Amino acid sequence: MSVEKPKIVFVLGGPGAGKGTQCSRIVDRFQFTHLSAGDLLREERSREGSEFGNLIEDYIRNGKIVPVEVTCSLLENAMKASGKSRFLIDGFPRNQDNLDGWNRQMSEKVDFQFVFFFDCGEDVCVKRCLGRGQSGSGRTDDNLDSLKKRISTYNNDSLPIIKFFEGAGQVKRIDASPDAEEVFGEVEKIFVASGF
Ligand code: UDP
Ligand code: MG
Repeated sequence: MSVEKPKIVFVLGGPGAGKGTQCSRIVDRFQFTHLSAGDLLREERSREGSEFGNLIEDYIRNGKIVPVEVTCSLLENAMKASGKSRFLIDGFPRNQDNLDGWNRQMSEKVDFQFVFFFDCGEDVCVKRCLGRGQSGSGRTDDNLDSLKKRISTYNNDSLPIIKFFEGAGQVKRIDASPDAEEVFGEVEKIFVASGF
């Protein structure tokens, strides 16, 4: 019996680049299921009886990246539970540990497509995250102090991962600084051109 492996698109970009916003639009238009690694971690943080709650909160507040064993298992469980076969994995992998863990645990089980890179200047990202914090995102990391740490983690740890995929010819880059509507126009073109 041959079972088709689930198709995976990684969605990467700085904090506030619009990954979540664009992913929900992609889901409305194409047959994809959106899995945000950050959302899964926040859910696990608040799950009663979770042994990882405090650890996750500490990492998130400090803009650090949670050990991959935790994140990757949350992703794998969510994929299985959904019963679906096409996934946007948003905000992962964001460092070498994430990528290595994914390769150990998942790469054989999936059909990796490409990385969607939402490229956005730091000033725009900061403005969006602080705006989101003020309009009640409820996130414990949408404040200036956490944001500075998230940006430095992004520059030091996540950008090299995007560069690695770029070197392998697996990145589709989008200018994420215009408004969401305009960005989605570009996103749509890429998905259609990729046969989705
Ligand atoms: N995070 C993590 N591993 C992941 C994804 C997220 O440790 O694979 C943590 C990390 O601390 C990050 C926070 O969750 O700063 C928020 O991530 P999210 O993707 O929700 O933020 P965004 O980049 O969308 O603003
Ligand atoms: Mg997000």
